[in-house]
Amino acid sequence: MSKRQKAPAKAAPILPTEKEAANIQLALDQSADRPKRIRPPATTARYLGPNRVEVGPPHDDRAGWAKALGASLGVDSPGVASILMASASAIMGELAINSQEDADAHMAREMRALEFVSAIRPETTLEATLAVQMLGAHEASMLMMRGVHKAKTVQQQADYVRLMNQSMRTFTAQVDALTKLRTGGKQQMEVRYVYVDARSQTVIGGYPAGEGEGPVRQSEISNKPMHPVSEPLVMRLRAACRCGARTRAGTPCQAPAIRGKRRCRMHGGRSTGAPKGEANGNYQTGAWTQETIQARATVRAFVRMARKQLDDLW
Ligand SMILES: [Zn+2]
Repeated sequence: MSKRQKAPAKAAPILPTEKEAANIQLALDQSADRPKRIRPPATTARYLGPNRVEVGPPHDDRAGWAKALGASLGVDSPGVASILMASASAIMGELAINSQEDADAHMAREMRALEFVSAIRPETTLEATLAVQMLGAHEASMLMMRGVHKAKTVQQQADYVRLMNQSMRTFTAQVDALTKLRTGGKQQMEVRYVYVDARSQTVIGGYPAGEGEGPVRQSEISNKPMHPVSEPLVMRLRAACRCGARTRAGTPCQAPAIRGKRRCRMHGGRSTGAPKGEANGNYQTGAWTQETIQARATVRAFVRMARKQLDDLW
């Protein structure tokens, strides 16, 4: 319960400037147009004992409160809503409460967390779960950002920056996942290039064939018998790695590289490379053959994995 403190003397109110008032009016107008969202209901926590807290409404309509809580998170089941609430609470690092005062501070933070989840406007349990995880990634990146400022050494600072970037990337991936969930996995194709197939006259991208203004003209294609064009092929060639061999002009070759290689068919892409093992002219002790390099990597990976398992255990 928050009691507003009355100011002792009534001073004249400070009004917003004309510019500020216009901005406030704009905000009011726009939020009036936006569809209303069900917000997390007012919630209080009662301290029952160490680490035991009862969460509930500040009134007696418990069923209504539970319904509103679920609706604000986009789930029907009160059980799922309470799990999500507990997850949000865990993310905010508020697992332990030790007194009545702390319970209020705890609830305030938890309500802010629920506001965040609710503002993403989840509509299914899956979306709500994702929204809670987004809260986690966001909180983690903010925590790491604070770490960057507090770091005492350059190494620490670099570590925090790396961790911050990781959690931000996680957040971005979650945004993508949410978008996919909402659009049912359908992706919109953006047309950037126009391809004309000389034989079937197929056009991808909306320009009529033969009108001449597209990036690829029909005559250009039919004059290149060594580079036959069909639409999936030209798409694949566009996406292929480019050959980096230096041409006589000094520029990279840029022809599509052979699959899995870094050079095109004219510049060694078809070559199997120098002989392996003892047949290689540079073979000395065998410490750097593909086989020994691979064996060392396998052992290292195994040791890393074992150490991590031990770390997780203890
Ligand atoms: Zn090349």
